[in-house]
Amino acid sequence: MKTQAFPYKEIAAGAYEIGEFDCASVFLLIGDEKAMLIDTGIGIGDLKGFVAKLTDKPLMVCYTHDHVDHIGGAGAFAEGYIHPNDMADFAKGGAIGVGIEGRLGYIRRIAEREKGVYPYNLEEDVTEWGPCPSLHPLEDEQVIDLGNRKVTVYACPGHTSGSITFLDENSRTLFMGDACNCNLHLGGGPRGSRRFTSIEKALVYLKRLQSLHPQYDRYFNGHYDFRPLGVPLGEDVLPDAITACDQIVAGTAKAEIRPAPMPNFPARPVVTIGRTNVSFFPDGIHDGT
Ligand SMILES: [Zn+2]
Repeated sequence: MKTQAFPYKEIAAGAYEIGEFDCASVFLLIGDEKAMLIDTGIGIGDLKGFVAKLTDKPLMVCYTHDHVDHIGGAGAFAEGYIHPNDMADFAKGGAIGVGIEGRLGYIRRIAEREKGVYPYNLEEDVTEWGPCPSLHPLEDEQVIDLGNRKVTVYACPGHTSGSITFLDENSRTLFMGDACNCNLHLGGGPRGSRRFTSIEKALVYLKRLQSLHPQYDRYFNGHYDFRPLGVPLGEDVLPDAITACDQIVAGTAKAEIRPAPMPNFPARPVVTIGRTNVSFFPDGIHDGT
């Protein structure tokens, strides 16, 4: 039996943050008719069975983007919803990949970093990824009605070209995935590839998220390493990420080349404002070439 011993917190009425053992955050929003799962973590244990204990409503499984620490548990669900830009590479899982070795490597690195003791047995709780669910598109400004609970999709390309965020009207909460956090990796892929987004373009969308602030009181990113489980990311992070991107675009940023936190990622320039670090491709700042 795979583990269902996920730590979790109710963050508002019918809204939960589920911790995937320090690897990733999964969010569950429950309406009168349907429930929405935002991301599925890297794929440890029996997330589907655990969610079934919190709600018996039909589940709409949505993804903030196509990286494996968010889609690793996708194989347990027949259907999935994601922005079209992140559909083509869904079964690749980004640089870590969906393969068992890459996922185990990620899980072990996090466990070592956090010095955590977890109720999982990796041999049993991490199994082959897949089958790939059938994917459906989520578009910018699409409103999903879960039944007396409306959730609006806001695109925020930059981390990946299909990164999206979800604004839950009921709890006045924005769920950002990796579109904004304290270690914000922007660019998505080399210039010219379909994964690429310039800093200039990412900045427009980050500013739009900030401009939506009258509609939300707090935001959560897709990991709980810079905040405790169930506690929103601080109000500093989005404005500081915007300041960093503004400076990168203006050419006034003080960037420092730093090694990436995970293997298989290149060293890149990083701009730090407060506790927020924004990394980017030196040739990926402007939209034009
Ligand atoms: Zn990511």
